[in-house]
Amino acid sequence: MRFTVLGSNATYPTRGHPTSGYLVENEGRAVLLDLGSGTVAEAFDRIEVADLEAAVVSHAHADHCADVASLYFRLRFGPEDKRKIPLVAPDGVFDRLETFLTYEPGGQGFWETFADQRVDDGDQLDLIGAAWSFRRTDHPVPCVSTRIDGSNGALVYTSDTGPKVHLKTLASGCAVLVAEATFQGDDNLGTQHLTARMAGRIASEVQAGSLVLTHIRPDLNAADSVDEAAEEFDGHVVAAHPGMVIDF
Ligand SMILES: [Zn+2]
Repeated sequence: MRFTVLGSNATYPTRGHPTSGYLVENEGRAVLLDLGSGTVAEAFDRIEVADLEAAVVSHAHADHCADVASLYFRLRFGPEDKRKIPLVAPDGVFDRLETFLTYEPGGQGFWETFADQRVDDGDQLDLIGAAWSFRRTDHPVPCVSTRIDGSNGALVYTSDTGPKVHLKTLASGCAVLVAEATFQGDDNLGTQHLTARMAGRIASEVQAGSLVLTHIRPDLNAADSVDEAAEEFDGHVVAAHPGMVIDF
């Protein structure tokens, strides 16, 4: 399986750097995992619209889901045949996006484009020939971490979370831990996000094969985040960047 970083900025995009979004592919089949600002154009620079089988949205914060609007317009008004795909997400995502994207009272546009595939803590799904598992995170709105079991081990994407989440079970022994690391230093400032050190400690606890830091604030130097995480984790640590490819 292939995991491609489309965007890794926390909070807001900068030129060439969308916010959180990833492309997951398996033998010509594709899923978008989070759709931060600017990620849909990047995705369809790499795959055909017809190859996209589902969109997974971890939570209703705009830096993870704003481009569902772009995907909606592409699927509904693009030159390809109209398609309806599952939107996999926890509670809180559907109502917000339906309100934003439905223009007429009682309008059906949103639900003609997306099928409601709601997930919550402990749920599992089969998507593009792999098992996807979800756990609720420690975040102000319903949010899920995702584990994808590939042929060469599992990749776990934390999405947004404070340090109290039970990643120990979801991420145990994973080949690759893609962990948010919004902040640096020793304090997550009570924001229900991780620092790079926290991400490193989690990678050590779950005995991850390698650690990829993502969702780093664009005003921070990502190399410093890598250094901080590496003080807590002996394995390979790298900062995500658009275009990074991980096979697993
Ligand atoms: Zn968030």
